[in-house]
Amino acid sequence: MPPIDLNNPIEKYPRLQQKLVPALERLGIHTIKDLLYHLPFRYDNFSEMTEIENLAPDKTYTVHGQVVSSHLVYMRFKQMTIFEAVIQDDTGTIRAQWYNQPFLARAIKEGVTANFSGKVKLGKKGLFLSNPTHEITGSASGFVKEDTIHTGRLVPVYPETSGLSSRWLRFLIYPLLDHVKTIKDTIPADIRNRLGLMGITSALLGVHFPETLEEAAAAKRRIAFDEVFMLHLLNLSAKQKLKKQTAPIVPFNEILVKQFVSSLPFTLTGAQRASSWEIIRDMGKSSPMNRLLQGDVGSGKTVVAAIAILNAASTKLQTAFLAPTEILAHQHFTTLSKLLAGHNLTIGLLTASSAKFCYCAQSAASDISKKSIASLIKDGEADIVLGTHALLQKTIVFKKLGLIVVDEQHRFGVEQRAQLAKKHAPHTTDRQHGFEVPHFLSMTATPIPRTLALTVYGDLDISILNEMPPGRKPVITKIIPSRERASAYAFIKKEIEKGRQAFVICPRIESSTKETAGKPLSQRQLLLAEVKAVKAEYEKLSKEIFPGIPVAMLHGKMKAKEKEETMKLFAKNETKVLVSTSVIEVGVDIPNATIMMIEGAERFGLAQLHQFRGRVGRREHQSYCFLFPESLFTEDNKRLRAMTETQDGFVLAQKDLAIRGPGDFSGLRQSGFPDLIMESLGDTELIKNSRDEAQKILEQDPDLARHPLLRQELAVFTKEIHLE
Ligand code: ADP
Ligand code: MG
Repeated sequence: MPPIDLNNPIEKYPRLQQKLVPALERLGIHTIKDLLYHLPFRYDNFSEMTEIENLAPDKTYTVHGQVVSSHLVYMRFKQMTIFEAVIQDDTGTIRAQWYNQPFLARAIKEGVTANFSGKVKLGKKGLFLSNPTHEITGSASGFVKEDTIHTGRLVPVYPETSGLSSRWLRFLIYPLLDHVKTIKDTIPADIRNRLGLMGITSALLGVHFPETLEEAAAAKRRIAFDEVFMLHLLNLSAKQKLKKQTAPIVPFNEILVKQFVSSLPFTLTGAQRASSWEIIRDMGKSSPMNRLLQGDVGSGKTVVAAIAILNAASTKLQTAFLAPTEILAHQHFTTLSKLLAGHNLTIGLLTASSAKFCYCAQSAASDISKKSIASLIKDGEADIVLGTHALLQKTIVFKKLGLIVVDEQHRFGVEQRAQLAKKHAPHTTDRQHGFEVPHFLSMTATPIPRTLALTVYGDLDISILNEMPPGRKPVITKIIPSRERASAYAFIKKEIEKGRQAFVICPRIESSTKETAGKPLSQRQLLLAEVKAVKAEYEKLSKEIFPGIPVAMLHGKMKAKEKEETMKLFAKNETKVLVSTSVIEVGVDIPNATIMMIEGAERFGLAQLHQFRGRVGRREHQSYCFLFPESLFTEDNKRLRAMTETQDGFVLAQKDLAIRGPGDFSGLRQSGFPDLIMESLGDTELIKNSRDEAQKILEQDPDLARHPLLRQELAVFTKEIHLE
C-alpha cells in the first residue's frame, strides 16, 4: 500500500468498503488513526497448533489442513442450517461443524487449505470442531497466505457493533500496522528509558497482534501511559496558567466569619474548620482559587461553602452557585436563606422554570420574573445566585462575580465551567477591582481515592472532609430477600406511625450500550420507562401496601413547579413516602426521613447506592437502608454485601474499584474521559509516574517550547477532551 496519512478521515482508507463507515463512526472511529487506536479488550488464544491425531475433547486448538469434503444441511423443522467440512492433515481427519452460517460454503470448499481455530467436542460420531474460526491459507489454484490474523495465534477481539465484527476489524487494522513506523513517539526517549516503556511502534504492533499476553499487557500499558500523561500535562499546565491570572483578593473577614460560625446550631467538625481555612486562604491570594471540596454524603459541605460565600459577599463580590438539578438548586436556596438569615444579603434563584429572590435580613423569599432576576444579577443587587444550567445562558451577566461554587462537579463539564468564568466581563464591568477570573470551588460527594482524584481532577487543589458531624448513627443496612418483603413493609409502616418518613427508589432503567446489537433507548424512551416504573410503584404502594398513608412521587416528566411542591410537602412531613427515580440521588436533605428503600438495588453502582443511603441517617433518629435485589444470585451482590459491611464512602470507593474497575465509578463514565484513561485509573504506579514526569517536563519547559511534538499532541488531546 502507498503511504497513508493517519490523520485522514476514515472514508479515505483505501481498504474500506464505504458501507462500513456508519458502523465505524458508531464505534467512535472518525479518522484512520482512530482505527489504529481501536484497541482489543481481550484475545482469543488460538496459538496452539496441533496435529489432528493429537486433538482431545473440550480444548481449544488450531488445526491446519485441507478440506477434503463439505456439505450443507438444511434442518427444516428446527429452521437452521448445519455446514459440515472434513479436514485432513498428515495425521488424520476431523469434522468441523458450523450452525447457521450457510455462506461459509462459498469459502470453505474442497481443496482449500486453511487454519481452523476453535473448541474440539466429542459427539455421537466422534470428535469434531465446533463453530471454529477459519482462515484460508492456500487454494487449489496455488494462492498461499503466510501471515494469519484470525487463527493460529493470539487473536484480538475488539469492541464491535452491528455490521462490524472483530473479523472485519482485524482485516482493516492489520494492514495499517505497516504504517505505524512513521508515527513519531510523543513520549521523549529519556522518559521511556527511565520507566521501561516500549516505543509507540512496538506498542501498537504488540497491542493488536501480540506474541504473548505479557507483550499485549505491556503494549496496552504504554498506550495508556500516553493518554494519562497527556491528561496530567493538560491539568498541570492549566494549573500553571491559572496561577498567572488574577482574581480578586478577598481578605479574611474574621469577625464576620467567627460570628457566623458561632451562630450555627452546631459546632463545626475539625475537617470543616480546616477546609474552610484552606478556602479562605486561597481566596486571600490574587491568583484564582481552583479547589475541590470532597466529602462524603452528609459530611457538611454546604456550610463550608456558606462561609466562603459570606466572606466574599462581605467585600461586595457576588457568588454563582451551580447545582446539578432543580431540586438541589431549590434546596440550596432554602438552606442558604436560612443559614444567612439576619445578614444584610440577598439571594437569587434561577432555574429553567423558576426565579426567586430573598432578602436574608427579613428571611423573605418571593417569586419574581426571570427578567428581573437577570437585571438584579447584572446590577450586582443579587449577592448570591443559585441556579442550574439556566445560569449559563448568555443573557446572564454578573456585575462582580468573585466566586463560583459548583455542587457535584462531575456533572458539569470543563466547558461549562469556563463558560461561567467568562460571565464576569472584567474590563467593562469591573475596572475598580481589576480582576480577570473569579475564584472557583467545586464540591463532590463522590469519594474517589486520591490517585484517581489527582488524575481526574488534577488541575484542582483538594480539601477533604474526612470526618462526620458527631452523633450520627450508622444506617442499618439490609439486603431483603423477597420472602421478607412483607415484614419489611410492616416495619416501614411502624416507622411511619412513629412520625418518620421513607424514600423509595425505583430501579434504574438501562439504556442498552453501544456494543449491543439492540437499538439503544433514546433519552426520551428512557425517561418514559422510568416514569412508568415510578407510577406503577406509586400505585402499588399507595393502594395495596400503605393505604391511608400519604404517598407522593417524583419523576423526570413532572414540571419543575410540581417537583418543588412535592419536595416541599415531603419536607413538611405532610407526605410520608416519596417514590422516586434516581433524581433524588444527590444532596437532598430531609432530616426526618429514616428509611431508604431501593428496588432493583443490584442495578445501581456502589457509589450511587451510597449516595442514596446518604439521604437518611442525617439526624439523631436511627435510620435504615433496605436493598431489594431483583435476583439474589448475581455477581452484583458483592456490591450489595459491601453496602452492608461499611458506611464509609472511601472504603466503598476502594471496594468498587476492586469489584468493577474504575471505569464504572459513578459520574466518571459521563465525564467524557477516554476509556483507556478510565481503565488505567486503578494503576497507581502508572498514574504516579506519569504525573511526576509531566511535572518535571513542565518545570523545565513550561510552554513545551522545547517539546514541539508534545505541544502539538497536547493541543489535539485538549480539544478531544473538551469536545466529548
Ligand atoms: P453534604 O456534605 O452531603 O452536602 P450537608 O451540607 O447537606 O452535607 O450537611 C448535612 C447535614 O448535616 C445538614 O443538615 C447540616 O445542617 C448538618 N451539619 C453540617 N455540619 C454539621 C456539624 N458540624 N454538626 C452537626 N450537623 C452538621
Ligand atoms: Mg450537598
